[in-house]
Amino acid sequence: VTRVIAVDIGGTKIAAAIVAAPATIQARLTRATPRAGGSAVLETIAQMVDQLGPAAAIGVGSPGVISDGLVGSATDILPNWAGCQVRAGLERLTGLPVAVENDVHAMARGELTRGAARGLRDVLFVSVGTGVGGALAVGGRIVKGPRGAAGRFAHLLVPGDGPIPCGCGRRDHLEAHVSGPAIAASYAAGADQPSVVKLPDIVVRMGHGDAVARGVIEAAADLLGRALGGLLAATDGEAIVLGGGVAQVGAPFLDPVTRSVDVPVLAAGLGTDAPLIGAAALALDMGHDRDH
Ligand SMILES: [Zn+2]
Repeated sequence: VTRVIAVDIGGTKIAAAIVAAPATIQARLTRATPRAGGSAVLETIAQMVDQLGPAAAIGVGSPGVISDGLVGSATDILPNWAGCQVRAGLERLTGLPVAVENDVHAMARGELTRGAARGLRDVLFVSVGTGVGGALAVGGRIVKGPRGAAGRFAHLLVPGDGPIPCGCGRRDHLEAHVSGPAIAASYAAGADQPSVVKLPDIVVRMGHGDAVARGVIEAAADLLGRALGGLLAATDGEAIVLGGGVAQVGAPFLDPVTRSVDVPVLAAGLGTDAPLIGAAALALDMGHDRDH
């Protein structure tokens, strides 16, 4: 059985697992993400690979726009991450072949190969949490785009200004309306509560009959559904897979999205393992799918 090592780089922790083909996680490790820059992150990963090995290859899901194994641009989730040569650096440190892709692309790859979208080919993947992440599968392949930046649905233009800025600074983007912090800001304004109430508490309040809580969650889900309806019209997708912390609200969030589109809206199936399963699939596919 072929074994590969899958790595999911996050802002606070790095998860790594040894995965037997096609998708059995046999052992896993997590470490705190070093804050000392790209080479410290790569050295930590190399140590984890050493502990987990032996393996035939390494697949990595990483924050940022990834092209040709290089972090082209990244938010400040990791210090000095943009410009990091992830593939070349890890190949040098480990001696193994390495494939790298954006973490949302890896999450979508995991859901497409082993999760909620298994057996489907043309799917929109949306992760709604602290921010909004997206990915698009066409004909069974994750679309990367020439710069590795395809699927950034956060920046879809929507009517009106959201309560907080999108990660890019604009308020008329989807993320400014529907992210967890945006829903919390809408609640704080609507309930006239200066204190910061986070999304899980808003969900609890909704369950206790708080009409403002229900209103802001449903409004965000409705807007997300209408924006995704436009994307479906453009792409002829056959399903939507919705993941991330906000999607865990369940029916009150999923139902308004479902009402706005004419395809199934599926809850992500692999949870936080999706990027690891996707990174393993990337490593196993490396021969014919290297770093698309
Ligand atoms: Zn934006």
